[in-house]
Amino acid sequence: MTLEYAKERQAFGRSIGKFQAIRHKFAEMATKIETARQMVYTTAWRFNNGEYPVREISMAKLYASQIAVEVADECIQIHGGAGYMTEYGIERVWRDMRLNRIGAGTDEVMLDVIGRSYGL
Ligand SMILES: Cc1cc2nc3c(=O)[nH]c(=O)nc-3n(C[C@H](O)[C@H](O)[C@H](O)COP(=O)(O)OP(=O)(O)OC[C@H]3O[C@@H](n4cnc5c(N)ncnc54)[C@H](O)[C@@H]3O)c2cc1C
Repeated sequence: MTLEYAKERQAFGRSIGKFQAIRHKFAEMATKIETARQMVYTTAWRFNNGEYPVREISMAKLYASQIAVEVADECIQIHGGAGYMTEYGIERVWRDMRLNRIGAGTDEVMLDVIGRSYGL
C-alpha cells in the first residue's frame, strides 16, 4: 500500500518515491523485513525438522514483532497526514502490528527467555 502511495502521491512536482530520502526508507524497510523473514523461516525450518531452539524462537518472535512495528510506523510517515487518518488503513496496520510486541509473550518476556538461555 505504501509503495503504491509513494508512486502516486505528487509533491514538489514529482512522486514522493522519487525523493532519495523516501527511496532510502523503502530500502531500509525491505532490508529489515528480509532479515526478519529469514530469521523466522530458518527457525521454523529447524522446528519443523525436530529441533526446539527456544532461544532462536524467542529472538525471531521479538525481532519480527519489533520490525513489523518499525516498518508500519515508517509507512505512516511516508503517508504524511493521510497516514494518521483511518481512511487510508495504515494506522490500523500499525495498531495491529503493535499487538505482536504484547501478545503471546511480551518483548520483555522474550528478552528474559533469551537472557536466561545464556545462563544468566
Ligand atoms: C488484542 C489482544 C489479544 C489477546 N489475545 C490473547 C489470546 O488469544 N490468548 C492469550 O492467552 N492471551 C491473549 N492476550 C493477552 C496477552 O498475551 C497479554 O496481554 C500479555 O501476555 C501481557 O500480559 P498483561 O496484559 O497481563 O500485562 P502484564 O503481565 O501486566 O505486563 C505489563 C508489563 O509488565 C511487563 N512484565 C510483566 N512481567 C514481567 C517480567 N517477569 N519481567 C519483565 N517484565 C515484565 C510486561 O512485559 C509488560 O510490559 C491478548 C491481548 C490483547 C491486547
